[in-house]
Amino acid sequence: MIDKLFPNKLETTTEILARYPKRNLPEGAMVTRIAPSPTWFMHIGTLYTAMVSERFAHQSGGIFMLRIEDTDKKREVEGAGELVVEALDYYGIKIDEWQDLSGKEIWNYGPYKQSARQEIYASFVKDLVEKWLAYPCFCSSEELEETRKTQEEYSQRPGYYGQWAKWRNATEEDIQAELEKNTPFVIRLRSAGNYNKKIKYQDLLKWTIETSENDMDIVIMKADWLPTYHFAHIVDDYLMWTTHVIRWDEWLASTPLHLQMFEMMGWQAPRYGHLAPIQKLDNGNKRKLSKRKDPEASMSYYDENGYTKESILEYLTNLANSDFEDWRKANLNAPITDFKIGFERLSNSSWALFDFVKLDNISKEIISRMTSEEIYTRSLVWAEKFDKNLASLMKNNKEKFLSIFSIERNGEKTRKDIGKWSDVKWETEYFFDEWYSFDKASLKETYPNLNEADISNILSGFKATYDSSDSKEIWFEKVKALCDSIWFASNIKEYKKAPENFKGSIVEVTTILRLFLTGKTKTPDMYYIMQVLWKDKVFERLS
Ligand code: GLU
Repeated sequence: MIDKLFPNKLETTTEILARYPKRNLPEGAMVTRIAPSPTWFMHIGTLYTAMVSERFAHQSGGIFMLRIEDTDKKREVEGAGELVVEALDYYGIKIDEWQDLSGKEIWNYGPYKQSARQEIYASFVKDLVEKWLAYPCFCSSEELEETRKTQEEYSQRPGYYGQWAKWRNATEEDIQAELEKNTPFVIRLRSAGNYNKKIKYQDLLKWTIETSENDMDIVIMKADWLPTYHFAHIVDDYLMWTTHVIRWDEWLASTPLHLQMFEMMGWQAPRYGHLAPIQKLDNGNKRKLSKRKDPEASMSYYDENGYTKESILEYLTNLANSDFEDWRKANLNAPITDFKIGFERLSNSSWALFDFVKLDNISKEIISRMTSEEIYTRSLVWAEKFDKNLASLMKNNKEKFLSIFSIERNGEKTRKDIGKWSDVKWETEYFFDEWYSFDKASLKETYPNLNEADISNILSGFKATYDSSDSKEIWFEKVKALCDSIWFASNIKEYKKAPENFKGSIVEVTTILRLFLTGKTKTPDMYYIMQVLWKDKVFERLS
């Protein structure tokens, strides 16, 4: 019967085990991996898990692997596996063992793609069948559906177990008869679990599971001769000597089953840490990032918007260990890999909430520490891919862009207006006539009480004394003098004491100037903007 079930010659499990000797690693070294299924584009959660797993491995002198779990052929998306390799490379997450883009296996504990491990699984399945721990099941999906209906009718737990497990106690003759007929079959585990016995388990992220022992005879090998996730996980993580499995909490409920399977195989199980999925607030309610609904679930969103890789990594580290922020403040220029990530501080459900404001602040902080040259070079690389018009403007005006980026960059106050490369256009467009635009309606909206005469006084008053060779201090004194001369308070405190004595304050005056000059109400320091624009342009716009 066994020969009929497994007609191809297979390596024995002893031979296989000999090919995966114990790793020679220092005490306490962690072996971790990510094991994405190539069923979708690159998910931010995959990057998050990879980053956390890689940190644990390398901080402990261990190994980080990438294993592509491509056993679900129906749902596989062409190129999704490659996307993971490329993304990890781009984000500087160092993989020690994997199958590279040319298909080469890097290191000896592979193959690192499950479709190439089919014979390995088959050997272990065969071994289990020989030991009477697994068996073939010839039930059709209609038959299984029938059973489910009957169970429902008799208020029984649904599933393939105990008395409902039709092929569990089949005789060899029954099996032979089906094999003769070439009936398709799957291989199921002969579970020894007792549903009335409770087990308790706590994982590294302090999730506690209390559940019944598994008594389901789950499928371990599908009709297409590929393993199910459960079985492949056991075999692969054992052979690869994974010490810590860090994965999504959607697998938390299966962990007792996995522990049962490790025990059945007589193998030591790895430790598990289940990460809470990244969630977002949607109308005040927390929910998991959705692949379909939320563009920010995919890494392509961050590429297109021009987030820097440093920002993403810092943000994700902060999501993992919230004390990262304080560490960063105390270690401004240290490489992120110096931060020691800890299991005990790893976010449990309440923390992994995606917060764009935080990401933006982290990003602005990072870009504020870059030189103008670096901002120019990196935003240009982005623009060449995602905003061709901006790229050509940048290339034709390199010096001007460098001056723009230098505004408020080297003094005591550093500008923090650029958080991602797609912000560059908004922050620089008003320096170029072809992109500058000023909408008078926005002026009326901002200051409904100012009349045209006041506005005109501000503009012509400013022009009357503006001298582009003035120092910043003199420039500012002149603005204040202008305010006083047209009944706008140059001193905010005085204005607040008795607003009725004034038409407005210096805030209105500078905002009006800013609006005419840039079309915006918020920009970096206007003195420097005027320096970059040149006197003629300043006059032209104020006129
Ligand atoms: N292929 C599984 C998934 O993508 C892997 C889970 C694991 O890390 O074990 O969800």
